[in-house]
Order: sequence, then structure tokens, then C-alpha cells
Amino acid sequence: MQEINPKKILLHTCCAPCFAYPSIALREEGYDVISYFYNPNISEETEYEKRKEELRKYCKKEGFKVIFEPWQNEDFVNISKGLEDEPEKGVRCSKCFNLRLTQTAKKALGLGIKNFSTTLTVSPHKVSKQIFAEGERAQLLFENKAIFIPFDFKKKDGFKKSNEIANRENMYRQNYCGCIFSKNASLIKQNQ
Ligand code: SF4
Repeated sequence: MQEINPKKILLHTCCAPCFAYPSIALREEGYDVISYFYNPNISEETEYEKRKEELRKYCKKEGFKVIFEPWQNEDFVNISKGLEDEPEKGVRCSKCFNLRLTQTAKKALGLGIKNFSTTLTVSPHKVSKQIFAEGERAQLLFENKAIFIPFDFKKKDGFKKSNEIANRENMYRQNYCGCIFSKNASLIKQNQ
């Protein structure tokens, strides 16, 4: 039987800038943070590799363990079928959070890690309650054997603090969430 360490946490990570403050905050709370990069929502492999590389560098520098999954965009394509016209913060985003958090819960169980959470709440563009609902759904799917901890990282100036670290470290930072729909919306905004 695998030993369960209550202070270990598998932290789903969308990118290095969003990991910056949450990882430090959790470490200060006594958590042993393991970053988990599973983001099939990212529409292009080159972009996936850029975000991955930036996270790898930062984790190495700060001494965090990190686990990377290969780029698997088809996972996202499957769950977003029929939801192409959804706005950001809509049903497609809920499905996207669910996909990533279900996989994080599964991974945590496989690794014998009791707790899981996500860096996604640090973004002011995301509704934390919407993310928490999907984290809880993932927890229930695995019969509460992995526990989702609803950290709202945008509180206490979390986004500002993450930005400060990202600027200091000269991190690569994308200007869209990840999927092709968010990329297109960002391009339209830039051209207005
Ligand atoms: S906008 Fe972001 S959260 Fe919403 S579906 Fe696209 S990648 Fe996922």
C-alpha cells in the first residue's frame, strides 16, 4: 500500500507565470508542491512546448518537482465539440477545467498524493467558483479518494504577485488562455 503524505499536493499548472505565486504561497503554508502540466486545451504544439519549457526552467531554479504530460490536443477537441461558439467563462470553459482537473485527480491517486488543486484561480479572467465546481466534481468522481483544495490564488494580490515574479524572471507569457477559440478572440481584440 502506498503511503499518503497529507502535506503533499499535486498542483495542476497552466503555465509558469500562473505557477509563480501559488507555488510560493503553498510552500510557505508547509505544502510539498508538485507541479502537474496537463493542458490539452493548448491548440498548438509549439505553444505547448514554450509554456512547458518556461515551467521546467522555473521549477528547476526554485526546486519544485514537475510532471509533464505530452501534448494531447485531441482530448480537448473531443470535449469542446459543439461548444465552439461559447464565450469565455461559459460551458466550454467548465468542460475544459473538468478535463484538466479530472486528469489531475487521477494522477494524484496514481502517485499516492492525497491533495490536488490548480493554479487557474490566480487569473482575474477566470471565475474561481466555476473552477471549484469542476475540482469538486473530479473529487467525487474518484469517491473522495483525492481531495480538491479550493485555493483562490487571486486573493491577497495573488495575480499581481505572480506578475511581479514573472517580470523579474523574464518569463515567457502568452496573451491568450490556450485554446484556438481564445487565441482567435485575442487576435480580434488586438485588431480592433
Ligand atoms: S478559454 Fe481557456 S479555459 Fe476556456 S476553453 Fe479555452 S483554454 Fe479552456
